Amino acid sequence: MTKTAAFEAGVSAALANEALQHALADVPAGFVAGRARQKAALPEFEGLRRTARDIRDHTLAHLDAYLEEFERNAVSAGSTVHWAATADEAREVVLSICRAAGARTIAKSKSMVSEEIALNAALEAQAMEVVETDLGEYLIQLRGERPSHIIAPAIHLRAGDVADEFRLRHDHLDASRDLATPEVMVAEARSVLREKFLAADVGITGANFLVAETGSAIIVTNEGNADLTMSLPKVHIVLTTIDKLVPTLADAWPLLRLLARSATGQAFTAYTTIVTGPRRPEDDAGPQSCHVILLDNGRSELLQSEFRPILRCIRCGACMNHCPVYCAIGGHAYDSVYPGPIGAVLTPALAGVGEAGHLAQASTFCGRCEEVCPVEIPLVSMLRGWREQAFAASDDWRSRTFLRAWVQLAKRPRAYGLAARIAAAILSALAGAKGILRRLPFGERWTRQRDFPAPQGTTFQDLWKRRERDEGPAP
Ligand code: SF4
Repeated sequence: MTKTAAFEAGVSAALANEALQHALADVPAGFVAGRARQKAALPEFEGLRRTARDIRDHTLAHLDAYLEEFERNAVSAGSTVHWAATADEAREVVLSICRAAGARTIAKSKSMVSEEIALNAALEAQAMEVVETDLGEYLIQLRGERPSHIIAPAIHLRAGDVADEFRLRHDHLDASRDLATPEVMVAEARSVLREKFLAADVGITGANFLVAETGSAIIVTNEGNADLTMSLPKVHIVLTTIDKLVPTLADAWPLLRLLARSATGQAFTAYTTIVTGPRRPEDDAGPQSCHVILLDNGRSELLQSEFRPILRCIRCGACMNHCPVYCAIGGHAYDSVYPGPIGAVLTPALAGVGEAGHLAQASTFCGRCEEVCPVEIPLVSMLRGWREQAFAASDDWRSRTFLRAWVQLAKRPRAYGLAARIAAAILSALAGAKGILRRLPFGERWTRQRDFPAPQGTTFQDLWKRRERDEGPAP
């Protein structure tokens, strides 16, 4: 099965999945309405977006210098900095740190980079127990799934699914216990995870931002799980990518103000932690060692390409929440670590257009993703760029022949007008009194899902001519 065919099968399955459709129906009332409220309450919201875009662009333009500054300052704060060109190298660095720490249990807070490098499987293959401590991540880990959203990994699940999963997996607890409310389920997850935090030898977090001037990582969560993950085990690993840098703490501020507002509709995330190196002698708690892994995995190449603006991304998920395609099919149908508009642009850049170019088709080009992106990434034009590259690499002779014929016709207005008149007359005749075509020659894939309205009246060219005749030439 080709990638495109597999994607289409995934889409059909998602559309037919009633439970998923119920879960996705909550997105507009939750994240979308929340962002709208925050935007309305903050007069400088649009100005902040421009500031955020400029900070990210400036950082990317001088990324080499800021990376070196970050390394210098992180090392002088006591961290060890590791550079990883590929996913393999990053996995190997994590494994060697864990082996050196004699790790048997590893606590993790949510990290899309760890999904990108398939870290859990690599650790588990070495007989290490990995425990996801973000509630959503914990749920999908129990179910053996990948995240379906970059900030709400279990958005495809409803409360009943969670209760069923807990009853199945927490089999040391009373089977007849009450799991009727989210509060009870959260309390149960908390008590199970507390044991894991205390047992963990290594804690792995991502980083929302890295600060060059201080060598710090900024990590935000709503559950406080990253704080326990980084402070209870003896070793803390920050697994992140080279594009997460900002020059100064002051530069991080506008990005943090936008992040929660764009993501969940909160004014600020509940826990925002700035971590600079391991525990110092005067500290009450904290890890004995701190390692920062800076993964490239294709980003240097991306930096030199027309797709560089995608590296501005702060992973807020707003483009997904506002995307009519994502909201219809959810994240799993994309079969990609990063779903939605951000995934449709980033994944072909990381995996290659042959592997993931088809994802750019998952867009109506309505532009809502671009309107809400807090760092003003031109997602639509980049999606179009991937479509062009995917088309250039494809052997779709039907589309090529059609487009070649259309170009020849479009260059000859008289012939185009005649062809349009003939086509309109034929389609109207085929549609009959109902004015609807159930099948369209050369357009079967379109009419498989919907009817095609037959042309009404005359052609656009004829209407235009009539208007010029009646009202004079257009100004
Ligand atoms: S592309 Fe923009 S809207 Fe989408 S996740 Fe990234 S920052 Fe957020």
